[in-house]
Amino acid sequence: MIKENITTLLKTIPTTVKLIAVSKTKPIERIQEAYETGHLDFGENKVQEMSEKATRLPKDIQWHMIGHLQRNKVKYIAPFVSLIHSVDSVRLLREIDKQAQKNDRIIDCLLQMRIAREETKFGLTFNACDELLQNMQCSHVRIRGLMGMATFSDDQSQLKEEFGSLKNYFDKHKNECQWDTLSMGMSGDYELAIACGSNMIRVGSRIFGSRN
Ligand SMILES: *Cc1c(COP(=O)(O)O)cnc(C)c1O
Repeated sequence: MIKENITTLLKTIPTTVKLIAVSKTKPIERIQEAYETGHLDFGENKVQEMSEKATRLPKDIQWHMIGHLQRNKVKYIAPFVSLIHSVDSVRLLREIDKQAQKNDRIIDCLLQMRIAREETKFGLTFNACDELLQNMQCSHVRIRGLMGMATFSDDQSQLKEEFGSLKNYFDKHKNECQWDTLSMGMSGDYELAIACGSNMIRVGSRIFGSRN
């Protein structure tokens, strides 16, 4: 099932769009199954869970941190994380920079933007992001682009507006900032996100089944 889900999904999205298989809450065995299709990019939202899985699974897996990240936990993932999607403050960025330096590597990051109407979603406003871009001086962090989550809703016009606003902001800065990654779209809205210009989607339940 998992293997089929991945291969079908890959067949239906453009080759220019990168798929992150979101494996949070799912056991090692299910990830192993997905890995056997040749898929290497997996997303987790908790530091401890991701670290444990990374220790036990093949080393060529690329781990994506997609959940809210506390500064005091950056050190646990800094040695191996492939891309952090959820940077939402200068202070977090500085901590990532520091830990990257300690590990003698450069860590790729995305800035998480708040595009949803819901109150609970983390992320930077466009104004806060403008400010962050002016104030950051990081030698060991490379910002590759932006991440955003749309409102949990079926209202296509609202989703389109939210994805569109992120794509707009991305386009405004991509040349100057040398951005190449726009992470938007999940199981329920990835098709629309791709139509709106996403080139990285984070899909969990469509691959691994629903979480309780
Ligand atoms: C859980 C999660 C996803 C995947 O959600 P699905 O609806 O299961 O595809 C994507 N992005 C983030 C940030 C998540 O926390």
